[in-house]
Amino acid sequence: MSSSLHEAMLYEKLEKGKVKCNLCARRCTINDSGTGFCLVRKNEGGTLFSLVYAKAISACVDPIEKKPLSHFNPGALVMSIATIGCNFRCQFCDNWMISQEKKIGGRHFPPEEVVKAARDNGCQGISYTYTEPTIFFEYAYDTAELARQVGFFNTFVTNGYMTPEAVKTIAPYLDAATVDFKSGGDPSFYKSFSSVPSVEPIYEALKEMRRNDIHIEITNLVIPKLGDSIDKIRELVAWIRDNLGKDVPFHLLRFHPDYQLTTIPSTPIETLEKAYAVAKNEGLNYVYIGNVPGHPSENTYCPSCNELLIKRFSFEITRWNLAKDMRCPVCGREIPIKGKLYSSGYSYPYALF
Ligand code: SF4
Repeated sequence: MSSSLHEAMLYEKLEKGKVKCNLCARRCTINDSGTGFCLVRKNEGGTLFSLVYAKAISACVDPIEKKPLSHFNPGALVMSIATIGCNFRCQFCDNWMISQEKKIGGRHFPPEEVVKAARDNGCQGISYTYTEPTIFFEYAYDTAELARQVGFFNTFVTNGYMTPEAVKTIAPYLDAATVDFKSGGDPSFYKSFSSVPSVEPIYEALKEMRRNDIHIEITNLVIPKLGDSIDKIRELVAWIRDNLGKDVPFHLLRFHPDYQLTTIPSTPIETLEKAYAVAKNEGLNYVYIGNVPGHPSENTYCPSCNELLIKRFSFEITRWNLAKDMRCPVCGREIPIKGKLYSSGYSYPYALF
């Protein structure tokens, strides 16, 4: 066994040296010497190992609004880390250079150094992001545990394709999750453009997150022509409303051409605005349009009296108009924002490596 391997969590040993990985909903059965679909988990002699433990391919300081998380410790800074690999094959991935990389690489950046770097850079939390954190679960888990011990919060940016066991395992240390949908969760889109056989596990993971009191925000990438069905967006919104509640922040993200979908144009603003209206009409209280800096739907408004509560420009909070106890200053409605406002000053994202 190579010293760079780290034994995996959440797997079962099967007969004839096979193993079954139970981290993500693919639940790969892996033969001896084989790797899972994500290519970063390997069976060596009947033991499953992570090939990317403490091998960060990217480490950046980001405003939490970039995740996006708009109702969780606003203004905070997070140390964002990622390894290579993914359990999806999205043809439009904007981090495809690292998510679809097949060669194991990355800088040795163990959990204690991640936490130290977070402290040295004035962060209040750690975010496991850019690629799918489920596939570097052991690294995220150990870092999150350590981070929590010194008072940092932890957030996942995830496609949600996690098993309930994985959610339950990380839950004691996971404060918030941004769960990214595409195309309103249209199953045929997921099959054709992300190589995902079923979207059902994402809903199960979301329910498990809710049961474990993890703060949830949901994004939906709207892709012109291929994934901009208003009916699908309406269905997704109705599911969120009925299963997670009206107060879950919902972000409609503008698509930009990338990777294998460079011939598809950026999402027209009118499409996003139409989807925004549908989400509001279906009853969601906090709907946002993302990737359109300066759009009025980047702001938070009071659902009762429509007072402008938080004005944003891109990832920056430019005006804070909430009373101390997170209430609307005009009508007194309580606004569900977890944590507190950090006013340490806006910072542009910057990369450590
Ligand atoms: S994490 Fe990787 S190995 Fe495990 S089930 Fe998912 S794709 Fe397969």
